[in-house]
Amino acid sequence: MNAYIQWSTRPSILTLFSFVCLFLVTACQEDEEVVEEIEPREVGYPGVEEELWVYFERFEEEAFNRGLNINLRTANITAQVQEIDENRVLGRCNFAFHRFGANRVTIDEAFWNRSSDRGREFVVFHELGHCYLNRGHREASDNRGTCLSIMRSGTEFCRDNYSQFTRTRYLDELFDTQFANDIFQ
Ligand SMILES: [Zn+2]
Repeated sequence: MNAYIQWSTRPSILTLFSFVCLFLVTACQEDEEVVEEIEPREVGYPGVEEELWVYFERFEEEAFNRGLNINLRTANITAQVQEIDENRVLGRCNFAFHRFGANRVTIDEAFWNRSSDRGREFVVFHELGHCYLNRGHREASDNRGTCLSIMRSGTEFCRDNYSQFTRTRYLDELFDTQFANDIFQ
């Protein structure tokens, strides 16, 4: 009788053990799911074409490095790469009419396709200079005729010199708060 009882309890202990194991595995999986639901990663910028995201992110980073906290995800700016018919126009910022709707950045598709990373950055930052910082054009140049700002119109006489050596200086100028909102002045 004793022998029978001992033999018959063994399987039930095993069963209990495997149940606990299974339960632990399930509990772990559930934990992971819960974590993802609570903290979804913010990905991308609504209304902005995906190939422009990297430049939007950089714009935020460079602003942050200069003490400005900019969130382009909530700035109500849409952006796209699209053919612009007008000759020599590489980018455009359309302001929302009476602040109704979103400001819209357009980058010329032909320019985009033939340009380097720095060229793309130059034009996206210029248009965000209008559409986010509310900057107008600034044609100032040094005594050699080099543009002092990436906010130059491109229709005047100064020469661009946006390179790895001058980039920091140009971005300091772009985010200089003395120029912000000067489009409305
Ligand atoms: Zn412009």
